[in-house]
This record gives sequence, C-alpha cells and structure tokens, in this order.
Amino acid sequence: MAGEPQADCLFCKIAEGEVPATIVRETNTTVAFRDINPQAPTHVLVIPRVHYPDALSLAAAEPQVTADVLREAGEVAIQEKVDTTGYRIVFNTGPGAGQTVFHAHAHVLGGRDLQRLV
Ligand code: C5P
Repeated sequence: MAGEPQADCLFCKIAEGEVPATIVRETNTTVAFRDINPQAPTHVLVIPRVHYPDALSLAAAEPQVTADVLREAGEVAIQEKVDTTGYRIVFNTGPGAGQTVFHAHAHVLGGRDLQRLV
C-alpha cells in the first residue's frame, strides 16, 4: 500500500535501522544520512520515513511530509555550515535523471563550488 514500508527498499531499511547509515538528523517523519558516494564535501540525503517512489508522488500524497523533507534539508545545510556559502537541494526523478533508489529523497550538496545546472 502507498506509504507503507517496502520489503525490497533500501531506504525503507535505513529508515527502520535495518541497514546501517551515518545518520546526521532524525525527526518523526524524516531521516537524514550521509551519501555513501559523496559528490561534495557535504552530501546528505533526506528521506521521508514513508515510502513513495519519488518526490512528486510524495508531494501528492503527503504534502506536510514533503515540507518536512525540505525543512530538514535546510536544517542539514545549517548543521553542516554550508548555508552561508550556498548549497543545492536535488530530487533526481526518474531513471533518465539518474534516480537509482526509488524511495523519495533530497540530496543536499555543499562545501564546494557547484556549477550552475540551469
Ligand atoms: O538520486 P539517486 O537515486 O541516484 O540517489 C541515490 C543515492 O543513494 C546515491 O547518491 C547513492 O550514492 C546513495 N546511496 C547511499 N547508501 C546506500 C545506497 C545508495 O547513500 N546504501
């Protein structure tokens, strides 16, 4: 069922503590942990505890949790001290955009010069 943990989902397992991750922040609705393959000095993923395959399906079903993910992404930036220099929040959506884990997640990237994408 939508929103329920999926047995084959890596990020559901991280949210439930079944797979280890370096967690930097947690709330009732979100978990933030360091990306295992960091693309910047700060590279943290913020996930909702509920399972939706991407950001848009999360936003459609759980707007408050989507807001929680965004707020936590900003809190990560402050905690990591990249808020003053600038940081990027990315939701890769779909395989063509490089999404490889189909549990909604925000990448928080900072700590280096980030090239403009658009
Ligand atoms: O946006 P995308 O789906 O590609 O992002 C998935 C991210 O999850 C990757 O950056 C990958 O390095 C990260 N990852 C992780 N821990 C895992 C598996 C993947 O941080 N155990």
